[in-house]
Amino acid sequence: MFDTDVFVIGGGPAGIAAAIAARSRGFRVMMADGNRPPIDKACGEGLMPDSIAAASSIGIHFAETEGCRFRGIRFHGGGLSAASDFPSGYGLGFRRTKLHSLLVEQAEHAAIEMFWQTPVTGIGSNEVRLRGGRISTRWIIGADGSGSRVRQWAGLDRFVRNSRRFAYRRHFARKPWTEFMEIYWGEGCQAYVTPVGDEVCVVVISRVRGPVLTDALGRFPQLEAYLAGAPISSRERGAITATALLKAVVRGNVALIGDASGSVDAITGEGLCQAFRQAAALADAMAAGDLAHYEKLHRSMRRRPTFMADLMLSMDRWPALRRRALQVFSAHPRILQTLIAVHIGA
Ligand SMILES: Cc1cc2nc3c(=O)[nH]c(=O)nc-3n(C[C@H](O)[C@H](O)[C@H](O)COP(=O)(O)OP(=O)(O)OC[C@H]3O[C@@H](n4cnc5c(N)ncnc54)[C@H](O)[C@@H]3O)c2cc1C
Repeated sequence: MFDTDVFVIGGGPAGIAAAIAARSRGFRVMMADGNRPPIDKACGEGLMPDSIAAASSIGIHFAETEGCRFRGIRFHGGGLSAASDFPSGYGLGFRRTKLHSLLVEQAEHAAIEMFWQTPVTGIGSNEVRLRGGRISTRWIIGADGSGSRVRQWAGLDRFVRNSRRFAYRRHFARKPWTEFMEIYWGEGCQAYVTPVGDEVCVVVISRVRGPVLTDALGRFPQLEAYLAGAPISSRERGAITATALLKAVVRGNVALIGDASGSVDAITGEGLCQAFRQAAALADAMAAGDLAHYEKLHRSMRRRPTFMADLMLSMDRWPALRRRALQVFSAHPRILQTLIAVHIGA
């Protein structure tokens, strides 16, 4: 009756995850992206242990040798430092382009029909319009990122909350000095560092736009010292990172996923985990023929990361709280350990 069962708009991590999860339930799946792979994007490039587990639950597997393993999180700030291992498992750092290539490979393997450099220009009740034609489909998935047009077309563009910060990413060609993902707390901004092979990925996030990343490093003298003399190995990419909650993510046969369906601040490193989890829930809901179930699960899945984002952003907002928290974490590592266990849902 339809050209395809599921049409996914956007071939970033969330779109590919949704496509793979739907395919594993036996649906015929098509996916279109305006760009071509591998697609780069400003990202902290860390997959937490819960992200790896969530990916694996929908059949996306990352071999340990393909990424750069990290064992926990380390905080630095005000001359103090505190670290904790993950309670179990490990995280993996990937250059974003590498992550995208791996995901595309797995989508090809799952026999998903993919159209690259093919922007979608509109949707109808059971139809997707793209350059060169229209495709009829039972389900439409909007995975077109934070500025989603599918969200507008479906009338889902109503936020209950949308707070934004500015992020800048660069790579430095230097062997990682750490087995941790590191967060440096400064005045009004944070830098976080993920080991990604023979390089480190550095992201600076701030409530105000700019300065460019290399200037901002001056606010983190310890990190600046680690990076001294290391050649810059990628161009700076900027992004807005938001804690964005939508009133609804489903309308009729249209469902939103990934950043199109709302997001948590990048400091949590939980964006990809959310996308993988949502993909599983959405595939189940489509298999049951009822997207209302996805709506409900989507709401409950975002609670923990939103709470953790709020907690971490209070450390950004209140310097006295940040100083006190760092003192406590460094004097009582078990407290940080518990917080990190909660953070990754252990
Ligand atoms: C600075 C920063 C650091 C982050 N760090 C981490 C981290 O360390 N760990 C983590 O897990 N998460 C992190 N995140 C979050 C994570 O990057 C996002 O949650 C994730 O990229 C969302 O994927 P997505 O597929 O929803 O969106 P995107 O990756 O934005 O993909 C959307 C795709 O849709 C396509 N598209 C858009 N419009 C159309 C159209 N009309 N037709 C066809 N295609 C279209 C685009 O070309 C794009 O490829 C970070 C985010 C930021 C901003």
